Amino acid sequence: MGLIDTVTEVLSASTTRAPDEGGDDGSSGAYWCDDCGVRVRDVAVDEEGLDRTGDGTPRCPDCGGEMRFERAAGSSCAC
Ligand SMILES: [Zn+2]
Repeated sequence: MGLIDTVTEVLSASTTRAPDEGGDDGSSGAYWCDDCGVRVRDVAVDEEGLDRTGDGTPRCPDCGGEMRFERAAGSSCAC
């Protein structure tokens, strides 16, 4: 009994990463639907349950169109 409890604790400790570390959640950008103005962060695509095209690009939840990926600010200049 005691051993199993310990193993479970160790496993959950190693797989549970701090989810709120200053907002750095691994997101590198967001997907946009220009027609609908819908924006979904790349890390939220699966949470939102969006469909994907054959090459993995998410589809807009409103119109079903292929969404455009935009990298988070800082990696490119949009001037
Ligand atoms: Zn759309």
